[in-house]
Amino acid sequence: MNTRLLSSHPKKMWIGGKWVDSVEGKSFQTYNPATGEVLAEVSQATAADVDLAVKAAREAFDKGPWPRMNPAEKAKILWKIADLIEKNIEELAQLETLNSGKIIREARYGDLPMVAENFRYFAGWTTKIFGETFPTTTPYAPKAQTFTYTVREPIGVVAGIVPWNFPLQMAAWKLAPALACGNVVLLKPAEQTPLSTLRLAELLEEAGLPPSTVQVLPGGPETGKALVLHKGVDKISFTGSTEVGREIVKMSASNLKRVSLELGGKSPHIIFADADLDTAVKSAYMGAFYNQGQCCCAGSRIFVEKKTLEPLAEKLMERAKKVRLGPGLDPNTQMGPLISEEQRKRVEDYVESGKKEGAKLLCGGDRPADLKGYFLKPSVFVEVQDEMRIAKEEIFGPVAALLPFESIEEVIQRANATPYGLAAGVWTKDIKKAFKITQALRAGIVWVNTFNCADPTFPWGGYKQSGWDRETGSEAIRLYTETKAVWIDLN
Ligand code: NAD
Repeated sequence: MNTRLLSSHPKKMWIGGKWVDSVEGKSFQTYNPATGEVLAEVSQATAADVDLAVKAAREAFDKGPWPRMNPAEKAKILWKIADLIEKNIEELAQLETLNSGKIIREARYGDLPMVAENFRYFAGWTTKIFGETFPTTTPYAPKAQTFTYTVREPIGVVAGIVPWNFPLQMAAWKLAPALACGNVVLLKPAEQTPLSTLRLAELLEEAGLPPSTVQVLPGGPETGKALVLHKGVDKISFTGSTEVGREIVKMSASNLKRVSLELGGKSPHIIFADADLDTAVKSAYMGAFYNQGQCCCAGSRIFVEKKTLEPLAEKLMERAKKVRLGPGLDPNTQMGPLISEEQRKRVEDYVESGKKEGAKLLCGGDRPADLKGYFLKPSVFVEVQDEMRIAKEEIFGPVAALLPFESIEEVIQRANATPYGLAAGVWTKDIKKAFKITQALRAGIVWVNTFNCADPTFPWGGYKQSGWDRETGSEAIRLYTETKAVWIDLN
């Protein structure tokens, strides 16, 4: 590990273009989940700090250069941010791994390139955000001659609140489109993982982003609440649990600020008997256990056509048993720790509930004796019923529930019988089956013969209680703009 990594970067708040301490002198500790050791003490943004940051953001939006900068200039800065992320990719990946527990390979080759590409993709949008003209007739004034058009304008002060599972990716999904549309942003990283976002703030400055265009406010739920309740904030862009999403909707009523939500999931991963078994096992494994199962889209309900269930369960168990757990920075590690002791206990509670409710645990669910951090061996359950907690609730940990099915109609009905609707996966060689099921699934993302794909160009988000609206892709432009309809009387 690069020992400068932790000592050289600020652990303060980034407000008004300066690194500052909390006005009340508050701070919190952030940990390395692979060891349980404290990595750093970070300034904590209280309501008073949020108030200062909102004032600076309002000033930056009402009078500052960013919303007034021409689109090509904005594009250059966003592109430069992407370049700087790539230039510092190793350092950012290591920070991400140290603070979140994810394995370095995933941070280096998965998360960080996506972060850079998000800025590049939205750099391209700055010059393509336009309105329309309309051939209006105006029935009550048919002789009127008018020219009517729309323009898309930035919403204003956007607060982005993000979780800990993909800290920089989630930050980039909010920052890049919001900035491309000319907004200013207050970003609150999760309390568990502030470090990489603080480093990103330095890179934003280095890229030439004007002061107060982005401010970073580390802290937990209280910081988030202060942002959501603040009347100077025009929009909340939230990624996190469905439970907190619901609270945010209620709190945002104070000034009816705009709200977009990317929430939890309990994604079905449906494997038909005609799928190639080994590839399906690999996908089931990655779907359930990628990032230690701490993915909103985790394919944790694995529906397997009855005749394939036994061989698939056997192979999945073998694979799960062999996984090498360890600190994410060790290149030999295949699975890192969970984010915290609290999260590990939560997942263990689910494993216990599965056993108590009568499911059969094939492997895992216990702590490795030789590791100090918040590790938990990946678990595979069979003999699972749809109404068991492990089959219904979002676990956010490495727990796979295998459920047999016999017909396509049955699996569609069961896969859709959930309040969530984020993602779904289907494995089959039969194109008709694939189309039929893709049309019938009530999910925002459907993967056929693949799983876990995302791209800056493509919308991400869920049906039902998995959220409102879509992030990334062209749909994100709508999230961060208001439409102004203009009438010009030509008579
Ligand atoms: P969480 O809801 O507890 O916290 C998310 C963020 O909200 C954190 O920054 C937290 O500090 C803040 N927060 C917590 N309570 C708040 C409150 N009352 N008011 C304002 N802010 C508050 O979620 P988590 O445990 O950090 O993350 C896991 C959840 O995130 C899972 O449910 C997962 O599915 C979801 N998630 C969804 C997506 C998606 O794209 N749909 C992506 C990643 C994670």
